[in-house]
Amino acid sequence: MSESPDTSASDGLPSLLDLPASRWREAMAEWVDAPYRADQVVDWVFRKGVYDFTEMLNLPVELRTGLAQRYSVEPPSINRSFESEDGTQRYLLGLADGLSVEAVTMPYEDRVTLCLSSQVGCRFACRFCQTGVMGLARSLTAGEIVGQVLRLRTELNAPDLPVNIVFMGQGEPLDNAESVSQAIGGLQDPSGPGLSWRRITLSTVGVVPEIKRLAELGAQRPRLAISLNASTDEVRSEIMPVNRKWPISELLAAIRSLSWRTRERVTFEYVLLAGVNDHPEDAQRLGELLRGLPAKVNLIPWNELAGLPYERPSARAIEQFRLQVLRGGLDALVRYSRGTDIAAACGQLHAAVARSG
Ligand code: SAH
Repeated sequence: MSESPDTSASDGLPSLLDLPASRWREAMAEWVDAPYRADQVVDWVFRKGVYDFTEMLNLPVELRTGLAQRYSVEPPSINRSFESEDGTQRYLLGLADGLSVEAVTMPYEDRVTLCLSSQVGCRFACRFCQTGVMGLARSLTAGEIVGQVLRLRTELNAPDLPVNIVFMGQGEPLDNAESVSQAIGGLQDPSGPGLSWRRITLSTVGVVPEIKRLAELGAQRPRLAISLNASTDEVRSEIMPVNRKWPISELLAAIRSLSWRTRERVTFEYVLLAGVNDHPEDAQRLGELLRGLPAKVNLIPWNELAGLPYERPSARAIEQFRLQVLRGGLDALVRYSRGTDIAAACGQLHAAVARSG
């Protein structure tokens, strides 16, 4: 973990958002006359949603200008947003270097789920996913990840609504493990957003060495979701090239090496592709593969993407597959993606700045 703010984030100034809020006192020690000044900055940023030092009115004017010359606390900006009929919003967020990345908010009655990106694009090239088609532009900094949460919370204007975070936007979080871990620490910091690990889910294609290293996060380790998507190496390697490097047996061994906390379960995502991975034998093999793990299976009917050679199974076939998985002794839910009408659904994110609508 890097110990100093990253200078690439904004205007060439180091972003304090790279550091957990409880370390801002230390970071600013040289410039402020008393530690409570740093606490006031934390309060403006994390409680009041003010990201411009010159507007932090309870700070002395010289301190405001001094901090503005040295640091940034500016989260990504909203370039565009698209609202779905189901309340889901997709945002195109502008980064300091001009690139943009997508994030999605999904409101529920008692909470809101924020779907964050960890990279601009992705280099894993899963065949059924639009982000995979983009390739990777770059990884996000910790500050850009924490900044997505700040920007979306400000935008939602519902400060008291509990927030769940899922790393299921663009990118592979474990291909950017250092910044993502740093951000996860920042999001849990009691002086900052103070989120519990239970409210944060990291979804991965299965970067085996990094899954093992998640143990190093200890009590801060987030919930885990694994994009399994097939029950044999043959099919998985075909639709997810990453499987050639880390096949199913190695992936599951890495997951089994983790220790589970009370009521913790690991989610296995399984995108349903008609005729490819939805045979009765797939359901049966899933049961065998995942036996003994505190697993639940999220079946995601494939979201149509133009130009890709797949089809979503019929509603009947989806339900049959779910029942077969249940019979194999696993908990299985069908997760229809939200926001399909605004291209905010799983697999549809690819930062089309020029897209109309
Ligand atoms: N790279 C990480 C984080 C992205 S999560 C990961 O793959 O886990 C995105 C989820 O959407 C993954 O579970 C992926 O399998 C799923 N997905 C991708 N394209 C999809 C599509 N067209 N329809 C439905 N789900 C899709």
